[in-house]
Amino acid sequence: MRVLVTGGLGYIGSHTCVELLNNDYEIVVVDNLVNSKMTVIDNINKITGKNFPFYNIDVCDKDALEQVFKNHKIDVAIHFAGYKAVGESVEKPLKYYENNLLSTIVLCELLNKYNCKKLVFSSSATVYGKPKVLPLTEDCPLNTTNPYGTTKLIIEGMLKDLYISDQNWSIVILRYFNPIGAHKSGLIGDDPNNTPNNLMPYILKVASGELPVLSIFGADYDTSDGTGVRDYIHVCDLAYGHLLALNKLNSGLYYYNLGTGIGYSVLDIIHTFEKVNQVKVPYKIVERRAGDIASCYANPSKASKELGFKAEKNLEDMCKSAWNFVIKNR
Ligand code: NAD
Ligand code: UDP
Repeated sequence: MRVLVTGGLGYIGSHTCVELLNNDYEIVVVDNLVNSKMTVIDNINKITGKNFPFYNIDVCDKDALEQVFKNHKIDVAIHFAGYKAVGESVEKPLKYYENNLLSTIVLCELLNKYNCKKLVFSSSATVYGKPKVLPLTEDCPLNTTNPYGTTKLIIEGMLKDLYISDQNWSIVILRYFNPIGAHKSGLIGDDPNNTPNNLMPYILKVASGELPVLSIFGADYDTSDGTGVRDYIHVCDLAYGHLLALNKLNSGLYYYNLGTGIGYSVLDIIHTFEKVNQVKVPYKIVERRAGDIASCYANPSKASKELGFKAEKNLEDMCKSAWNFVIKNR
């Protein structure tokens, strides 16, 4: 089976490419390097011992993407490509709507044209907005708190309409919780091109001395220690979830939470990171970040029951592997 992986050089995409290659899938990767680097290709090759075709193109460029479909018979697509910075999406909403929506529309048009109506889509727990009940199940109400989240919600709606219009489509929507950590080789990891927004890449910059201090966005939430609580999942567990999702692409439209079901606070993450890596992470408490919620964690039982998905790695593994990636790339 040949899988088209859009955004395949990015953080989650690169780990998923490794899983796919290690499980004998053929892959074709498309990425415009807006948030990734060409060196990721060599590193995927080193980890897997396998090569794959790569196209440096924008998924929104229909002619360029069509050439990929002409060059390769694609059986299924996994669509990672998109922008993901919540804060930037508030400042530049049109940039987010354009890239995230248009890339999905163009990809689906070509999947349709080339009669390959099978898609795994990267959605996010952000589509649940401010949860009324925890843990979150897939049928919880959807409601977003920022433009990035709204792009994911609109795309989910668009994919549902597409499926209703033509039930030959087979679509799996994966709602990721908070992926952190890195491949055990230390060759690939979360390596954003600009100053990070997410907690773990920011911790890594502070621990390595590239940035002076971590700002904790609020310590007055209604949580165990006042800091925000999230469901952190090892990126390799998340990547494996995509392989399981491919097995579901026979027909139908499915939604799955990919999380561990465990909530950790920002201070839990800092303390675990410091303990397992024997390195200090200086921090200060600052104002809450606009649009943030107190707590968010998954009920992962639907993915467990229907996909056989279970996150295997614990918080210590996540913190150790994230730091290993930094050390190996110094
Ligand atoms: P990432 O930025 O590391 O990877 C995305 C990749 O897509 C990058 O390599 C980027 O260069 C590429 N890209 C972006 N727009 C493109 C375009 N128009 N054409 C071609 N390539 C393009 O992000 P990630 O963390 O790997 O996330 C992958 C997907 O998962 C995204 O859709 C993101 O919204 C979603 N997601 C991520 C998280 C998270 O915390 N990392 C959580 C929930 C959902
Ligand atoms: N966070 C923080 N400082 C940072 C980045 C994040 O305190 O520099 C907190 C944030 O408020 C949230 C948690 O860490 O409680 C996870 O944030 P992230 O942006 O990684 O994920 P998301 O908010 O999208 O779940």
